[in-house]
Order: sequence, then structure tokens, then C-alpha cells
Amino acid sequence: MAYFAPYLGDDRRVDEIDISVHCDVHIFEWLMEYIHQPAKPPILDAGSVISVLISADFLQMKPLTKHCIEFLRGALAEVLRLPIDLSCVSDNLLGELALHLEADEIERLRDKKDKIASRLYTRKLEAHLADEANTLHRCAFCSRIFTPAQRNWEQCPRAPPLLDFRGNVIAEHVPNRQWDVHRAFPVCELDMCAPATARRSRRPAHSSPDDDL
Ligand SMILES: [Zn+2]
Ligand SMILES: [Zn+2]
Repeated sequence: MAYFAPYLGDDRRVDEIDISVHCDVHIFEWLMEYIHQPAKPPILDAGSVISVLISADFLQMKPLTKHCIEFLRGALAEVLRLPIDLSCVSDNLLGELALHLEADEIERLRDKKDKIASRLYTRKLEAHLADEANTLHRCAFCSRIFTPAQRNWEQCPRAPPLLDFRGNVIAEHVPNRQWDVHRAFPVCELDMCAPATARRSRRPAHSSPDDDL
């Protein structure tokens, strides 16, 4: 448990130390069992995985955190059916989980109360946008959204045509430097924890795309 490392420095001659723990006794037992046999972790189930995950993350037990995330991937539908509060699962952990899920897996989740789906989508979108190949630009001439690869093959209908070295007429999209994907798609900002209705109402239904500029 890396969490305790700063309290247990090598230079300190401590034979015994008292640790008081505030957590579910069953979860604590689970953790103790795990520590004695990390290669053979005790069984996880939908009812315990969130508590173990949060404890493991807090105690900086990285392999266990990873183990829980991998288990959670397959058990998410069941976890959502249980009355478990998921608001205390950190954004970092959700980001890890989102990396293990395909977008359509998130879409298939039955999460009527939106305990986790919106936050997972947000994290998934963030991860996609962080990939350079998926960087979104907006054309200064035609206002279309394009990726760097798209710019190589898609003609811009409004850009002033230029001649390339072979004498071909080309018209490439030109990125509008003032346009910011995070402002254009507010779902991708840190206000993602706001209820879905509040988020939707931030953007008037009839706003034109130019309102974001
Ligand atoms: Zn264009
Ligand atoms: Zn973002």
C-alpha cells in the first residue's frame, strides 16, 4: 500500500504502528486477504468492486486498481442495477474505465439515472480528442469541422483555389485559429458533472454554429 510509504520511512525505527481504519469491515477483510496473496486475489463481485476500487485507488495500490477496473468492465451492467452510489468514483478512475470500453458498450448501458454513462462518454471523448489524428479544426472559409487527415483529401468549397506544383487546382480547408473545440462542445469541459438538463440548456436550441466564435 504505497499510501502508507511516507509514514513508514526506512530511517524510522518503528516496530509497531497503530493504524485506524474507517471502512467497511468486509472490504477491509478483502484487502487484507489480497495483501497476503496478491497473485490470487479474493473473488470480486458487483456488490463489492466499487468499494474495493475506491479503497485501492486511495491506498495507491495500482495493480489492485487495475484488477478492479478490468473486473468492472464486465460487471458494469450488474453494478448499475444495484443501489450503489457511483458519484464518488473519481474522474481519473472513470477515465481508466472508459479506456477499457468501446463507445457502443457505453451506449448499451442501461443507466436511466445517468449514474455513470455521461461521465464515461465525456472521458471517452476526451481520450479520442487527445489523439492527434482526431484533433478537430474548423475551417476559416467554409466553417466545416475537419481532422488533419481529412484536410488532405477533402476540397474546401470556399477556400481560394491555389495551384500545386503539378499545376492541379487545390482548395484546402484552413483552420480557424480562434476556434476551440472545448468551447464548441461544452460536454467536454469540467462542468460534465452538471445534470444533463442543465448542460443542454446552456446552449440555445437555435444557436447558429457561429455563436461559438
Ligand atoms: Zn473549408
Ligand atoms: Zn476537454
